[in-house]
Amino acid sequence: MQFPVSLQGLEALLNAVPDSLFLLDPDTSNILYCNRAAHQELGYAAEELVGHSVLSLQKDVTGLPQWGQIAEVIRQSSPYVFVGRHRHRDGHEISVEVVTNTFEFDGQPYFLSSARNIGNRTLLDKDILSREAHLLFALNEASDGMWDWHLPSGNVYFSPQLKRMLGYGPHELSPTVESWTANVHPEDQTRVFQVLDQHLRGERERYEAQYRLKNRNGHYLWVNDRGRVCERDPQLAPTRVVGMVHNITDQKMLEMELMLQASHDSLTGLRNRREAEQALLAQLSTCQRLGVALGVCLFDLDHFKQINDVHGHLVGDQVLVRVARHLSQALRGSDALFRWGGEEFLLLVPGLGVGDMLKLGQKLCAEFAALPMDGLPGVEPVTASFGMAVMPEHGQTSAELLLAADTALYSAKAAGRHCVRMAQPLPPPALTTVA
Ligand code: GH3
Ligand code: MG
Ligand code: MG
Repeated sequence: MQFPVSLQGLEALLNAVPDSLFLLDPDTSNILYCNRAAHQELGYAAEELVGHSVLSLQKDVTGLPQWGQIAEVIRQSSPYVFVGRHRHRDGHEISVEVVTNTFEFDGQPYFLSSARNIGNRTLLDKDILSREAHLLFALNEASDGMWDWHLPSGNVYFSPQLKRMLGYGPHELSPTVESWTANVHPEDQTRVFQVLDQHLRGERERYEAQYRLKNRNGHYLWVNDRGRVCERDPQLAPTRVVGMVHNITDQKMLEMELMLQASHDSLTGLRNRREAEQALLAQLSTCQRLGVALGVCLFDLDHFKQINDVHGHLVGDQVLVRVARHLSQALRGSDALFRWGGEEFLLLVPGLGVGDMLKLGQKLCAEFAALPMDGLPGVEPVTASFGMAVMPEHGQTSAELLLAADTALYSAKAAGRHCVRMAQPLPPPALTTVA
């Protein structure tokens, strides 16, 4: 018997292949052909996938720039093996091992990918693994990936899961410790490497650190990484460390968002009163230690209630946003501006004495009155009243300085508003007479 190698015969042959086959355009990542298994595995009708980018099926690879990099690797290391996840039409994910070969036909380059569902295979694999491999397997499955570092050779085994988390195929990422160190965020490196060193020297029970790790796209993931020395040489020097990594990016983003909400005012984006009180204490101690002055300025918008009454609360909000934005841009980096409450702000200016603080206040007072209110029809520029105090002239503690600035602000309001008042100097210390 002979098989008829016709077009239909060829199609029947490809449709009988149990693995999913995808013929791809290396430049665009578009699917040019796929067999029946491919459609069925992903829940699509025949021909539905043709013309779509293969990236639309991937859960781990996103964006054409990343495809460009992967296509380059495939060209250089054909066949290229990638363990990843495909997205079924109904959204669930399928673990796949994809083997891709490059070939040319009629002068055109093509990629032929064969994808195998390995969801069930991992169960079979478990049976043939050794005891140690079982443990490593469990460790890997219980995390988002694991690593196994052999110190004498410097070799590191990165599990396929770990590579996948970072967007790499199983045969990419050279098995060296540099592949890891080079991808730790520069700001986190000192801290993380120190913790690891301390563990290796026996000063810490285990290595554990949360830090940012760069993925293939160049974006950073937040990870929780923990490991432990598990083998030592006869002199008890560590020779092998095993660890596992969890992707905690979502949790970290939420944490940062909550921290931002707790420390910042959501309307103006300025730091809030709680932050202001802490910053005042910190700046006081720095300025006292350095022997320099610290200017404290409280200012309050004039007749702000009228803006709300006449134009509505939302317009009032916009005025506050505008004032905050203008001041943030006008001030120096070392000056710190806070929303003290309502329409009242606190400004801390390290290094400025009484004369310079007064000048700064006059400047801000004039700028306020000239701040355009474009886009807010009928709203006149706002004015503000300023109360100022300086350490050491008007107090040494935060309570003394805040009281002095607040009293000065009250005098500015009493003097007709839209002006600056400096606190009264402290009375000289009372003389005690010795009998
Ligand atoms: P003064 O010159 O004496 O400071 O007069 P004022 O009207 O500015 O002061 P008053 O304390 O009588 O009113 C402050 C107003 O600021 C009342 C309050 O509704 C308004 N305000 C406080 N916080 C906000 C805010 O976040 N948004 C808006 N739109 N208004 C606010
Ligand atoms: Mg006011
Ligand atoms: Mg007020």
